[in-house]
Amino acid sequence: MSKSNRTTQEWQAADARHFLHPFTDFKGLAAKGSRIISKADNIYLWDSEGHKILDGMSGLWCVNVGYGQQSLIEAAAKQMAELPFYNAFFQTATMPAIELAEVLAEISPPGFEHVFFTGSGSEGNDTIVRMVRRYWDLKGSPERQIIIGRINGYHGSTMAGASLGGMSGMHAQGGLPIPNISHIEQPHWFEHGQDMSREDFGLKAAGWLEEKILALGADKVAAFIGEPVQGAGGVIVPPSTYWPEIQRICDKYGILLVSDEVICGFGRTGNWFGCETMGFKPDLMTFAKGVSSGYIPLGGVLVGARVAKVLIEEGGEFNHGFTYSGHPTACAVALANLKLLREQHVVEHVRDDIGPYLAQRFAELNEHPLVGETQSCGMMAALQLVKGKTPDKPTGTAFASELEVGMICRKYCFANGLIMRAVGDRMIVAPPLVMTRTQIDEMMGLIRRCLDQTWEELSQSGLL
Ligand code: PMP
Repeated sequence: MSKSNRTTQEWQAADARHFLHPFTDFKGLAAKGSRIISKADNIYLWDSEGHKILDGMSGLWCVNVGYGQQSLIEAAAKQMAELPFYNAFFQTATMPAIELAEVLAEISPPGFEHVFFTGSGSEGNDTIVRMVRRYWDLKGSPERQIIIGRINGYHGSTMAGASLGGMSGMHAQGGLPIPNISHIEQPHWFEHGQDMSREDFGLKAAGWLEEKILALGADKVAAFIGEPVQGAGGVIVPPSTYWPEIQRICDKYGILLVSDEVICGFGRTGNWFGCETMGFKPDLMTFAKGVSSGYIPLGGVLVGARVAKVLIEEGGEFNHGFTYSGHPTACAVALANLKLLREQHVVEHVRDDIGPYLAQRFAELNEHPLVGETQSCGMMAALQLVKGKTPDKPTGTAFASELEVGMICRKYCFANGLIMRAVGDRMIVAPPLVMTRTQIDEMMGLIRRCLDQTWEELSQSGLL
């Protein structure tokens, strides 16, 4: 019953009739029509009209090895033929799940020997909430319930994931956050720290955690969770002083430290995990996306020694898990993905070659009159759109948010065949880790063209 001979308009009409998209104004999209993506190869996508698009976002921060990798495709087909699914409940396991758990223990920082599998990053963070509270129950401190996250952090879209995150738009819908979740301000120098050095600001921002712990009562706080580099919040790279100080504060009060590695994990920042790049040692790590390069849904929690010891030795039954915890086909694809990352030295490629090159090319954009700040970490980068730059204030002034300047820029990205995301007036990329220098040059050419066209439109409308 193939319908592949439909026109784009026919696909859009069917989409509008039946498909409710994530994070979407349904009515607005139905009026406009979705863009239909029909195929992909390496770092490029094609839409149903045959337009070629450079995917500067790796799908949704996940297709780290790029599209069309035969070894992942074959791993899925082989596993599906042999054993497409079996569960891991009732004292059963499948071989790909066992093997993946082993490989994850090998590539994780010392002390991480155990993994709990989920189907997504959000489910991973729901697991974190239950596991952290279970840990403190077992330790005889059930009053330690509160988990502290950050404003503008993103930890998923389930009730617990969205609660841990600090997105005000999400909290406004559905009665969030759930009880015993608290937030501190994010370490965003451009917004909150321009009157001091980045290093001093990093210490100040970490200090907000200590203030919050003391305000809540240290004996009530169970854990702190953060993304090593905030992704969905706008690729906000914290100052180098931030995470070591967060670690010191968590240690001081005995609080568990959770690293949400859903975006940063598996090479994105130039190490296997973002916490290694940022210089801290978490007790728990959430992962998803890059573990399978997004070819198939898979996520989970890597459990460090401190928590594993208590859960395993004193635990009894942990009443938590999913149908797809340890899904054999998903695990087989992840194994092929991690094999590819290892054999082709992709993490080293990000750390030593392509990450520094992306950083260098992004820094050059600071000359542009619309760019007030650039930041990058491995294969993720951001630029802040501003006006009125002067030698005294090279970071310029923010545009009024209702002008939606980021959306103007994004319009030109679409028009020029580039996927670059707008987070307010911050334009961000997180391209596949296998990119070449020539492909980065191609992407930077497109970014410059989009910036110039945005500048042109703003100046013609008298908005500069
Ligand atoms: N944590 C982080 C840091 C994320 O970026 C995301 C997704 N963008 C999630 C959790 C949620 O993952 P998922 O969409 O797979 O549930």
